[in-house]
Amino acid sequence: MTATKPQQHNKGPTREDSAGSRRQQAIEIAAMGTVYLNGEFVAAEAASISPMDRGFIFGDGIYEVVPVFGGRLFRPGQHLQRLRNSLGAIGLENPLTDSQWASVLQRLVDDAGTDDQYVYLQVTRGVAPRNHAFPDNARPTVFAYAQRMNYATATSAATGIAVITAEDIRWRRCDIKSTALLAAVMLRQQAAESGADEAILVRDGLVTEGAASNVFLVRDDTVVTPPKGPLILAGITRDLVLELAQQHDMALIERAVKENELATAHEIWIASSTNEIKPIIRIDGATVGSGEPGPVFARMYQHYQDYKRAFCEGRVD
Ligand code: PLP
Repeated sequence: MTATKPQQHNKGPTREDSAGSRRQQAIEIAAMGTVYLNGEFVAAEAASISPMDRGFIFGDGIYEVVPVFGGRLFRPGQHLQRLRNSLGAIGLENPLTDSQWASVLQRLVDDAGTDDQYVYLQVTRGVAPRNHAFPDNARPTVFAYAQRMNYATATSAATGIAVITAEDIRWRRCDIKSTALLAAVMLRQQAAESGADEAILVRDGLVTEGAASNVFLVRDDTVVTPPKGPLILAGITRDLVLELAQQHDMALIERAVKENELATAHEIWIASSTNEIKPIIRIDGATVGSGEPGPVFARMYQHYQDYKRAFCEGRVD
């Protein structure tokens, strides 16, 4: 199931298509409004960094994506803790305190001015002559922006999505939220070329996670998800799903998941900050469970949406 499949290539885009999509991308960047770069708030098109930045040269950096609901950062403490963990793991000092981060991010959110957004932030090891080993005294590059977002997940929650399985070709420190995402980029592209939304990754016969999401399986009424460790990212949405399962007496266990359990699972879901929770109805072209989002998903999705509503109304932090 995990063998790399021959990829179909469409005929390449025409020159007009390419110019049109480049123009569209420039418009989208201009529409981003203000971004934060190294202590300043500047227009997105005016923001620039050196090509010698180690983020550009080596992918030597860490990032976070924080969802924003009702104009408020969702679970910022957990995201900033994971940022600290990732920075610590690569020997990079956190350039801002939590309260500085919170005020930078909230200002970006307020400028963007919509209820639903996400905030992207990135810290790299800064600008230095190219040399793999860490440079002395490089100043980190700090970048953040807010992006309006339509969390229109109700549609895919109702209809479900398709995924493929693929060999987990990433490194062995997937717990670090590194900007070096080439493997994830290639895996998502492989999914897209197969008409799927996500790639579920398998390493040594065990399911790890999605290319940019965590994975849950349901067998009878029990939800199962692979345990945290160096081979997966400790998703903040995953943690919330675990919390909600406990609060609402839903059976959930963290344990290793064999690849062949995917074929017999009654339900499979993915979860991430920008996708919330999504049910999978097709995997490698085969139907999952009944071929429709399952009843355990429906319960969890409702609990998640209720929690979000409570957050937007200020009833939970
Ligand atoms: N796993 C990977 C590899 C990811 O890239 C992501 C999010 O982008 C997740 C899991 C989900 O993490 P979170 O719920 O914190 O967004």
